[in-house]
Amino acid sequence: MKLPYVEYEAPTTVAEAIDLLAEHLDEASVLAGGQSLIPLLALRLARPAVLIDINGIDELSGVSATDGRVTVGAMTREYVAGESGTVADAVPLLAAALPLIGHEAIRSRGTIGGSLAHADPAAELPAVARALDAEFVVRGPSGMRVVPAAEWFEGYLTTSRRPDELLVEVSFPTAGRGTGTSFQEVARRHGDFAIVGLAVSLTLSEGAISDARLAFAGMSDVPVRAVGAEDLLVGERPSTELFDQAARRATDDMDPPADLHGSSEYRKKVAAALVRRGLRAAADNAYERQ
Ligand SMILES: Cc1cc2nc3c(=O)[nH]c(=O)nc-3n(C[C@H](O)[C@H](O)[C@H](O)COP(=O)(O)OP(=O)(O)OC[C@H]3O[C@@H](n4cnc5c(N)ncnc54)[C@H](O)[C@@H]3O)c2cc1C
Repeated sequence: MKLPYVEYEAPTTVAEAIDLLAEHLDEASVLAGGQSLIPLLALRLARPAVLIDINGIDELSGVSATDGRVTVGAMTREYVAGESGTVADAVPLLAAALPLIGHEAIRSRGTIGGSLAHADPAAELPAVARALDAEFVVRGPSGMRVVPAAEWFEGYLTTSRRPDELLVEVSFPTAGRGTGTSFQEVARRHGDFAIVGLAVSLTLSEGAISDARLAFAGMSDVPVRAVGAEDLLVGERPSTELFDQAARRATDDMDPPADLHGSSEYRKKVAAALVRRGLRAAADNAYERQ
């Protein structure tokens, strides 16, 4: 299908991009890797008057590490982040999730910022961002704002980014000693969006769990933390019984959506299995990283 007619702008600096966003507001769409936006245009599900192509803004790409955090520029390609030694060492949960996104061709164009700005609730990166309490840095005409992940995802394909703001980077906390992580998902075929996905981070201190984070993809219209299960885990020693209890607590109150890939009940069963599997894998990983 051909794209509808659309004006095209290609700024080369963040400042230019923000001026264009401020001028066109809701009439504009930012074009990053185009892996979600271009199909939406082709299918006439998005009808912006102007595309603001940010591929020429070099300052938006790259991975850097500072004290206790790793910052990923919004235009960093998914495959570049996936190949990054810094990401692999310091944010292993992100490194585990990246290869599960689509196929190589998608990851070589798709960007970290594009995935997180698109906010598909079935996508891997929003669940990782929620699990790790990532911070979203946006810039607009009135300056910079840092939005915590808990406030970023507002609904289906909807974030708290304002129309005149550009997502410029996302920062993740570095996993310390004793922190083990795992990303689990069930998809119909390799490369498909997950039916259910789960990001897990578990920290062990002297044999007991001192921090637990579980964030689901595909269970709601936003990525969602299993807070009850996290509370249940903290202070306890890892065991099969504990992980069974956590799986029940994480899923009992959930009312996931049904679609042609699975009923709500099926998603709950998959989610419980992923909690057990993810916690075991994260605990094993945490022992290795003591
Ligand atoms: C066949 C196929 C399979 C896929 N499978 C998966 C999968 O399994 N898991 C998965 O997570 N994803 C999957 N994707 C989506 C892929 O990860 C996309 O790359 C991603 O969702 C969007 O990133 P993008 O850089 O292509 O963004 P674009 O498509 O360019 O933009 C997406 C949206 O984000 C906005 N946006 C982009 N960047 C910014 C910014 N810096 N500031 C403000 N707004 C911005 C755009 O305006 C648009 O609304 C798949 C895509 C395809 C085509």
